[in-house]
Amino acid sequence: MNTVTRRVILTFPPNLVEDTAIYHLIKDYDLIVNILRAKIIPKEIGRIVLELRGKLDNIKKGLSYVESKGIEVKSLAQDIQLNEDKCVSCGMCLAVCHQKALTLNAVTWKIEFNRDDCVLCEQCVSVCPLKVIQVSF
Ligand code: SF4
Ligand code: SF4
Repeated sequence: MNTVTRRVILTFPPNLVEDTAIYHLIKDYDLIVNILRAKIIPKEIGRIVLELRGKLDNIKKGLSYVESKGIEVKSLAQDIQLNEDKCVSCGMCLAVCHQKALTLNAVTWKIEFNRDDCVLCEQCVSVCPLKVIQVSF
């Protein structure tokens, strides 16, 4: 079976912020786990952005296991919003997106967003003068 990559956001309730779920994703589901971002404060809701690499079946089972513990799992793509109607194609976000997740379509002159390449660094959010990119994290 082919190896695939998935990016997800895990939201830990306060009582689970020290849970060992990520350790088990590696050990029990044979996944390569890359932590892209983490915001963990004791006794508060915690969020971690993960890149998981492994067999698709193992990723599904591993994430089911995580959810069964009471940890919310969301696809990373659900948390990025680019309001194309309000974008004026000024290009300022392109300069700061080192992942090249934002590109300019040379035909339409519209900004295009490739969710698969985004690592939620939020550089584009802070640089956009019109605030038309939002990352909820
Ligand atoms: S910085 Fe904002 S307005 Fe400018 S191209 Fe990027 S998304 Fe559009
Ligand atoms: S959050 Fe970072 S990686 Fe994602 S589109 Fe914005 S600048 Fe690019």
